[in-house]
Amino acid sequence: MPTCRDCQTEFTVEPADKEILAKLDLPEPQLCFEHALQRRMSFRNERHLYRHTCGLCDKPVLAMYAPNLGLTIYCRDCWFSDSWNPSDYGRNYDPNRSFLDQWAELIKITPQFNLFHVGEIENCDYTNFTWNSKDCYLCFSCLKSEGCVYCKNNDECRDCVDSLYIAKSELAYDCVDITSCYQSAWLTRCEKSTECYLSRDLFNCQNCFGCVNLKHKQYYWYNEPINKNEYERRIKEALSTRENFAQHQKTFAEHEQKHPVEFAVIRNSENATGNSIYNSKSIRNSFGVREGENMGDVYRVTYDVKDSYRINNLGIVELAYEAIAAGLGSNKVVVSWMGEKNFSASYTSSCTNCEELLGCVGLRNKKFCILNKQYDEATYHALKKQIIDKMKADGEWGENLAPALIPQNYNDSIAQELFPLSKAEVLAKGWKWSDDQGMTRGKETMKPEALPNSISATPESILKEILACVACQRNYRIQPKELAVLKTLGLALPTHCQDCRFDERLKRYYFPRTYDRQCMCSINSHNHHTSATCQTTFKTTYAPNRPEKVFCSPCYQAELR
Ligand SMILES: [Zn+2]
Ligand SMILES: [Zn+2]
Ligand SMILES: [Zn+2]
Ligand SMILES: [Zn+2]
Ligand SMILES: [Zn+2]
Repeated sequence: MPTCRDCQTEFTVEPADKEILAKLDLPEPQLCFEHALQRRMSFRNERHLYRHTCGLCDKPVLAMYAPNLGLTIYCRDCWFSDSWNPSDYGRNYDPNRSFLDQWAELIKITPQFNLFHVGEIENCDYTNFTWNSKDCYLCFSCLKSEGCVYCKNNDECRDCVDSLYIAKSELAYDCVDITSCYQSAWLTRCEKSTECYLSRDLFNCQNCFGCVNLKHKQYYWYNEPINKNEYERRIKEALSTRENFAQHQKTFAEHEQKHPVEFAVIRNSENATGNSIYNSKSIRNSFGVREGENMGDVYRVTYDVKDSYRINNLGIVELAYEAIAAGLGSNKVVVSWMGEKNFSASYTSSCTNCEELLGCVGLRNKKFCILNKQYDEATYHALKKQIIDKMKADGEWGENLAPALIPQNYNDSIAQELFPLSKAEVLAKGWKWSDDQGMTRGKETMKPEALPNSISATPESILKEILACVACQRNYRIQPKELAVLKTLGLALPTHCQDCRFDERLKRYYFPRTYDRQCMCSINSHNHHTSATCQTTFKTTYAPNRPEKVFCSPCYQAELR
């Protein structure tokens, strides 16, 4: 069993994952799942955007790189134009030095595009990691969406605000992990539900408030049926002031603890362990997977991903290892960061439509390149073999860049969301830190006390005001779409800035670590377990010290009402 170089714990590589490694001629990893994920996530800054000037056309641009990184930034138009040639940065391989160091140097000097936007993008300047989207604002990892504001990991959504991990939904506000929901607020793990508020684990419900574990229900109040008129009277009251809704949030937090949770959400999938897995098969220890097959240790992977191990935040790829956002029609990708339509590409960053690359940065439509230098086919293969043999001897082959060499500040990256570290901890490791993440304080034109207490008392002029967060005092604004959605849902304006709201939402999602546990059900009427306590065991992201009653699927399903 391999031992993690970072935490010295032993970890297993499943036989199917060994097969993937063998197909790519790779050794077993040197880091455990979590430390490898943390390292990969350190590459990806989604949410912290900085003002720059394009190095070619001098236009002002927003970029995912803080000034302290010292990178040259081009706007996407310039970057994808013929006004510069990434091959000009090509260099000879030095067999006496670490190949990883040479690749890192090339990343550092080659110009970078400002933001990652792929496909048809319209009016999405303030978004990052966006694919085929329109009219979105401050959305990140935003796929095929339109009119969304302050969302992250939103796939095929419209007019959603302040939400995390949402798919195929419309007019959702402050929702986490929902699919196919409509005009709803503060839902967690719900599917196909409409006009519901403050609920979790609903399936195909309408007009439910404060409800848990219901399916096919309408007009329910804290899991009790009531008539339509009474429901409407109560909901009007609940939404009439910010305090009323906040009081319900407290009541709901107590109410939901009485109801069990399912050990994991694995839907329409065979042979899967992990959590949030949909329409997939043969998935091992993976989290946030849609339409995937034969993968291990992956995180946030959607749309047609196959035969891959230890990848995150990407889609449409086969045979990938240690890749981040380097899918979109790629095949055989090893240790790569951002890219699309590449075949047999190892150690690449921001390459597009290339074949046979090793250690390249920013190349487009190229073949047989090493460190951005062009070779003929025979020379390329001979040199590639020489480099890989040397990397194997040095223990570098298959290893990603050490965080100190990653071109990103740790606290700007999504690693900080899952594995938060203080500035002192980051600097002690020799990693990078951004001191100025760009929000102001003290510029407010309206004090928090003056914020209207209900949406009906909120004038349109609020869009011009600069507000101050009650928790961190940073300034924030209300966006037009945000106001429109709040009006539709009848909710008062938020008193917290978007970053504090985001941090609160993250707590409603889980950390990607599983524990071997036993079903906690002791309900006598369940006929699938004869003993008083169900003996089913499973892998769950609910840690043993969590307060939830964690049930196996049959026990959980039996308790759905
Ligand atoms: Zn470790
Ligand atoms: Zn430009
Ligand atoms: Zn705040
Ligand atoms: Zn059970
Ligand atoms: Zn049971």
